[in-house]
Amino acid sequence: MAIRLFNTYSRALEEFSPLDPAGREVKMYTCGPTVYSHAHLGNFRAYVFEDLLQRHLGLRGFNVRRVMNITDVDDKTIRGSSEAGVPLAEFTAPFKKAFFDDLDTLRIKRADSFPEATDPRELAKMIEMIGTLMERGLAYQAEDKSVYFRINKFPDYGKLAHFDLAELRSTGRVKSDEYDKEHVGDFALWKAWDEEDGAVKWESPWGDGRPGWHIECSAMATQLLGEQLDIHCGGVDNIFPHHEAEIAQTEGCTGKKFVRYWLHCAHLMVEGQKMAKSLGNFYTLRDVIGKGYSGREVRYALMRVHYRAPLNFTWEGMEEARVALGRIDEWVRRLNAETDSKDNPEAPSSKLQAPEKHQAPMAGPDFHDALDDDLNISGALGVLFETIRETNRRIDGGEIAAGEAKAWLDWWGRVDQVLGISGEEAALPEEIAGLAEARVQARLAKEWRKSDELRDELAARGWEARDTKDGQKITRRGGA
Ligand code: AMP
Ligand code: ZN
Repeated sequence: MAIRLFNTYSRALEEFSPLDPAGREVKMYTCGPTVYSHAHLGNFRAYVFEDLLQRHLGLRGFNVRRVMNITDVDDKTIRGSSEAGVPLAEFTAPFKKAFFDDLDTLRIKRADSFPEATDPRELAKMIEMIGTLMERGLAYQAEDKSVYFRINKFPDYGKLAHFDLAELRSTGRVKSDEYDKEHVGDFALWKAWDEEDGAVKWESPWGDGRPGWHIECSAMATQLLGEQLDIHCGGVDNIFPHHEAEIAQTEGCTGKKFVRYWLHCAHLMVEGQKMAKSLGNFYTLRDVIGKGYSGREVRYALMRVHYRAPLNFTWEGMEEARVALGRIDEWVRRLNAETDSKDNPEAPSSKLQAPEKHQAPMAGPDFHDALDDDLNISGALGVLFETIRETNRRIDGGEIAAGEAKAWLDWWGRVDQVLGISGEEAALPEEIAGLAEARVQARLAKEWRKSDELRDELAARGWEARDTKDGQKITRRGGA
């Protein structure tokens, strides 16, 4: 069965085929975090959806080459660093680190590269692209010395967001130097230095300044993946202006179609509103882990609703995720027990189809077939839980032999390559491992007070330290 994906550009489901003539390599670019604070669960909804997509394509035999950028210079990072009174790089460093720790906690596969906007190689590429756009008359330097993209010169502008240029109004993300611009929708490619930028500036043919947010992604995507991509993802809020601008800039430079499939996930909501830093209605991953939930529970809670449907974040939703994972764990435990048991008949009569070919036993689509249909996760999880119900019933009736139990475990292994939620927690996040190690050292030195303090600190972060005859054990509080 072919994979079909909903392309925001055409607003239609399209059969997926990559640019690679051999049909194997998939070039995928995903907009990453702006590192001025900890990413919130809304951001992670986008990253978990992208991870599910990458894993599913991987399971289908594609070799996914993925890039995710780190925006480490923009208005917010500059404001943060000046408020904290530290250089920009020093201000963003802990948030970069926290971001990678959070990816691990959520079992999100690492991209092949995470380019940073302030990397001199990336800045050089941005400046080169802006130069090309200037040469082609697609950009101009305004009186305020900033360089802007001239949207009137790019006839396709608005095709991704599906709107008419005439209706365009200014948006909050572009600095509102409107009097200097030819058109209210022209967006900054290079922002001229001003006092608020402090020490943050780079040289360019147009004077000192810094790149606009949109050109960062065009440059990093083409630098690392080439002029044409298969898939570009983000949340729906990225469609306009960010992705619209990426198309204009990149195609303005290359004259080639930039992206074949644009995929956008709907928002994670809180009581009817988008979860966002600016609204103050957000939770970071650390907040939720601090309440005793595990990374895989959060992952499941973010993943279980179709990526194009809005998802409400609630604590009941977190409890449901816990119950669902508990059912899966218990099922896997039972299958393992059946595999181990010796007195099981070798070939019990079975109404069910054997799962050797990774087929679900009931009529309807297989788990992976469901995902082929624009990542229909509800259908896929439906297959999984129906399988669990049915195999549990047959285990109760003594109908499953060791061989069949083993085959179901293999089936589950394949399903979990995509879901990434199986029982064991991944390695301890670095920060937790550090605290745990410090506590071991404190105990060896008989510094009991310090050891207790470290235990409290671990507890505050959602981890329990227990001292057993085999040494210290660290587990999630309340989690699996
Ligand atoms: P930002 O750091 O704001 O550029 O966002 C990083 C990524 O998270 C982008 O792909 C956004 O579209 C996405 N995002 C931000 N807020 C939400 C939300 N509430 N739900 C889903 N995705 C979001
Ligand atoms: Zn981007």
